[in-house]
Amino acid sequence: MSDDTAPSIFSRIIAGEIPADIVFDDDRVIAIRDIAPQAPVHLLVIPKTDAYRDVVELAAGDPALLAHLVATASSLADELCGGQFRLVFNTGAEAGQTVFHVHAHVLGGGLEEGHLA
Ligand code: 5GP
Repeated sequence: MSDDTAPSIFSRIIAGEIPADIVFDDDRVIAIRDIAPQAPVHLLVIPKTDAYRDVVELAAGDPALLAHLVATASSLADELCGGQFRLVFNTGAEAGQTVFHVHAHVLGGGLEEGHLA
């Protein structure tokens, strides 16, 4: 059973309570490799704050942080998959969102047609 008040899995990774393969870390975001990759490169770029459940809340509440998240995704894609990537924000359970702490999927390195994380 999920508990909406408990720290998200991503907050626990950011706090160092759960290990992750961290590829980038600064004062505002962290980027990790997805535990169940759906593409040769599959990263999650995650704001450190847990104030926003999804990208719609983030865009309304802190557009500069959203821009920083996108810039981070782009520079990691430059480094890891030639600068071409798909950026996916699942928004809502029926759209496939399972962790309600906003995060971007960065998918690259050879994608199959129709891939949506
Ligand atoms: P969502 O379904 O909410 O858009 O994306 C959540 C993503 O988090 C999924 O792709 C899932 O594989 C990934 N994920 C869930 N738990 C963990 C974890 O403990 N570590 C890592 N690295 N990724 C996780």
